[in-house]
Amino acid sequence: MQSNELIPTITAELPAVEELAAKLNGQLIRPGDAAYEEARRLWNGRIDKYPALIARCRTTQDVVLAVNFARDHHLTVAIRGGAHNTNGFASANDGLVIDLSAMKGVQVDPTTRIARAEPGVKIGEFIRATQQYGLIAPTGICSDTGISGSTLGGGIGWLMGKHGLAIDNALSFELVTADGRLLKASAAENADLFWGLRGGGGNFGIVTAFEYQLHPLGQVLAGMVIHPLARAKEVLDFYRDFGRTIPDDMGAEAFLATVPEVGPAVIIMAGYFGDDLAEGERLLAPLRRFGPPLVDLIQPIAYPDFVSMLDPLAPVGRHYHESAYSVKQFSDEALATLIARAEQMTSPFSVTIIHHIHGAATRIAPEATAFALREPHYIVIHTAAWEEGPAEPHIAWGRASYAAMQPFASPGLYVNFIMGETEEAVRASYRTNYDRLAALKRKYDPTNFFRLNQNIKPAVKV
Ligand SMILES: Cc1cc2nc3c(=O)[nH]c(=O)nc-3n(C[C@H](O)[C@H](O)[C@H](O)COP(=O)(O)OP(=O)(O)OC[C@H]3O[C@@H](n4cnc5c(N)ncnc54)[C@H](O)[C@@H]3O)c2cc1C
Repeated sequence: MQSNELIPTITAELPAVEELAAKLNGQLIRPGDAAYEEARRLWNGRIDKYPALIARCRTTQDVVLAVNFARDHHLTVAIRGGAHNTNGFASANDGLVIDLSAMKGVQVDPTTRIARAEPGVKIGEFIRATQQYGLIAPTGICSDTGISGSTLGGGIGWLMGKHGLAIDNALSFELVTADGRLLKASAAENADLFWGLRGGGGNFGIVTAFEYQLHPLGQVLAGMVIHPLARAKEVLDFYRDFGRTIPDDMGAEAFLATVPEVGPAVIIMAGYFGDDLAEGERLLAPLRRFGPPLVDLIQPIAYPDFVSMLDPLAPVGRHYHESAYSVKQFSDEALATLIARAEQMTSPFSVTIIHHIHGAATRIAPEATAFALREPHYIVIHTAAWEEGPAEPHIAWGRASYAAMQPFASPGLYVNFIMGETEEAVRASYRTNYDRLAALKRKYDPTNFFRLNQNIKPAVKV
């Protein structure tokens, strides 16, 4: 239940609020409105914030109006793309949520192989739209995540080996800055901003359109194999060796999770994304033979259906807590520790995820874009997830798992997986790019108007 003290009001500003509501093409949602409860909810059900206003924008002009309103009335701004950020940056108590979820346009030009997408588009929606033309851009690994937040942080996913990160395929961004200007950033226009937006997150403005270079992609050979957790040591040993040898056309990620009708399990999701499915069969054969697995769901499949396979693991509204870190290489001891922690999971919904950063994504110079973590490595995420009851045992499991793994962790973590708001972790993620980002922040957002994010502080003028 919503408690009355928590319902914010900005009654003093009421005429201005009415004026904003009248001007928006979209909708201004206020506490007490029928749509408010639903509109304030995020993917992470553990986050329970009460914004003063939610501006559900339909057009770029709506975004400009909302930015100007927030600035003029000193409201904290939260930007809502796909609402997947575990920290809940997409909402703010007493603030103004600039909600982009209704901006859903995707245009695909099959001749130039360029897609233009609006910021409310989810990954699943985007890849279904481009796949109608047999085309694709790299995105994250599951369909409900927003293209907005995931691209702006970097965008790791199944196709990173072949085509790099989402940002490595971004051609331009249109954005509204803190002073309400509409700018374009590309290699030809505002090139400094273009550099910063490729990894710098929501620090510089609100992106209202993304342009991506597309690539041909037909049916893929992909899916998952499932083994009982009791065999995790040999399966993860195998995964470590298999992952080191796969070509750029492939991707493989591991999950330690509870699978209905199987119980605690280790899952390897993998795919071949090249042109020759017979070659894919050959490359995936060792993975399918090993064990053998209890379940083998690897099959020729449309790419969007493969991406949807993960959706049941992370439904909207469950309570989540993530602890994540990078690992350069897995020693035997590191894998043993990881497995021991998975055996202690406190909820059947919790999961440990291993992302493998490899291939084309790791052959781009660290200073070429804001995203600096270009060396081959793994990202491990302990996602504690539960639906009811106290949070504490689940969060404690995540934190203890994180602590147990720190001897094996390497410095710097992809910003989109940093939990909490720690300046130190943000600096470590951007490494030597941080100072250039801070200077860019001073140029485009000197008052740190966009600060509900993995924040880059405006550089102090010397
Ligand atoms: C289940 C799950 C799976 C994930 N898988 C992947 C993955 O495979 N690859 C990957 O790279 N990441 C992945 N992530 C992390 C994901 O990239 C981040 O959570 C990201 O913030 C989500 O973007 P969003 O638009 O959905 O989130 P939101 O919560 O809406 O936005 C998060 C933040 O991004 C910024 N932002 C969003 N939209 C805009 C915009 N239009 N303009 C400016 N700033 C904006 C804002 O700072 C905002 O607070 C995953 C997360 C979850 C929960």
